[in-house]
Amino acid sequence: MKVLKFGGTSVASADVIKQVRDILNHTDTDRVAVVVSALGGITDHLLDTMDIASRQDAAYRKSLKGIENRHLEVVRELMPMKSQSGVLSKVKSELNVLETLLDGVFYIGEITPRLSDRIVSFGELLSAFIISEYFKSSGLNAVFKDSRELLLTDQSHGKAAVDFKESNKRIREYFEQEKAAVVVLPGFIASSEDGNVTTLGRGGSDFTASILAAAVEAEELQIWTDVSGMYTANPRIVKQAKPIAHISYEEAMELSHFGAKVLYPPTVQPVLAKGLPILIKNTFDPAATGTLITKKSPEEGRTVRGISYIPGISLLSLEGPGMIGIPGISKRLFEVLSAASISVVLITQASSEHSICIGIADEDASKAIREIDKAFSYERSQGKIKPVIHEKDLAIIALVGDQMKNHQGLSGRMFSTLGKNNVNIRAIAQGASERNISAVIRKEDVKKALNTLHETFFEE
Ligand code: ADP
Ligand code: MG
Repeated sequence: MKVLKFGGTSVASADVIKQVRDILNHTDTDRVAVVVSALGGITDHLLDTMDIASRQDAAYRKSLKGIENRHLEVVRELMPMKSQSGVLSKVKSELNVLETLLDGVFYIGEITPRLSDRIVSFGELLSAFIISEYFKSSGLNAVFKDSRELLLTDQSHGKAAVDFKESNKRIREYFEQEKAAVVVLPGFIASSEDGNVTTLGRGGSDFTASILAAAVEAEELQIWTDVSGMYTANPRIVKQAKPIAHISYEEAMELSHFGAKVLYPPTVQPVLAKGLPILIKNTFDPAATGTLITKKSPEEGRTVRGISYIPGISLLSLEGPGMIGIPGISKRLFEVLSAASISVVLITQASSEHSICIGIADEDASKAIREIDKAFSYERSQGKIKPVIHEKDLAIIALVGDQMKNHQGLSGRMFSTLGKNNVNIRAIAQGASERNISAVIRKEDVKKALNTLHETFFEE
């Protein structure tokens, strides 16, 4: 069995969905699980619509109409007349439920995280249902399976944590008794113990596919998307970027953690634990080799495997004349942030311990500052620590590669390249794994920094 995941652009229209059908024809395995995202753009469209409704603006009805039409149109274009009506009526009845929920949001004028999950889940539910019906009508032995019956999570709506033990059990039991050759499942959605819909975070369909693949110990996890693999840098920003033929799990994880959106960061973990290969492929160019991700990447080739970046970063610095004398200061700092559910993307600490600097998402900054200033109010009143210094609108760029630790001088080359191109470096960090070197720069400099670093490390 293989697990194939198709992202939003790969299922955006009837034409591409037909292409997906073709890809299945060329997949050599006894059976496949096909995990799909919502039709391209629909998740954002749903989020917009509920936002409009929550402001009690009746324009949400027009917005909803757009969502309805997209789905009905795809069904009409995909299915032969004779099998259309049953599918259309099922789709319409789902859309009616969606409408009722949105009417509720409009009248109440409020949206809760739980309701938001319920509403966005229609994107994946509808696409998976429609695609499974199309597969059937085109002669495949296919079924639809609702992932909410397989994936159990906690109740943290928006980005729920998976209960792997129970989910794995349900997945194995299901696939043991299921006889169909093709099982189509909605990505991204799951359910909590109390029976509510939860979601796995933006990009979470990759994760769904990975969890399924690991649970059944599939031969391979394939991520089908709109580019030909994981590139040396984001191909939309660096025109010279090239697909990486083969990289390790750790390199892929590090690149995705530092912003390579082509793979949702948690995706690697489940399959890594089982040693299953991941193959990233292009739905629009199935003949392209793509990127293979396995335990070890080949040692030949470039030392730096890829460059990625995260925009929207704030840098918070905690400093003061009395910092050295305060025991366990970093421990306390990280406890405060973790209690506030703020994730720290980067840490740098001067060896003198006169200051600690952390990189977090811009949107977390004011909360973080409030919590930190509160936690250290005593030290502040004593003049040992200064109020947190905040710099926003920054970005992190990271060089990634398993072999980087064995090569001296890479950071020197990185910083001199940036310096020569007048990119101002605000902070520097080296991952504990020594698999990455990262620098914090101004967001206006990202394009220039990525392109000049790419030139230095990949084009000579
Ligand atoms: P999908 O909808 O198929 O999940 P995503 O939009 O989530 O697709 O991911 C694919 C996109 O990731 C690409 O179109 C590209 O813009 C972006 N991307 C960012 N960094 C990289 C990279 N290093 N290699 C490939 N794609 C990247
Ligand atoms: Mg994605």
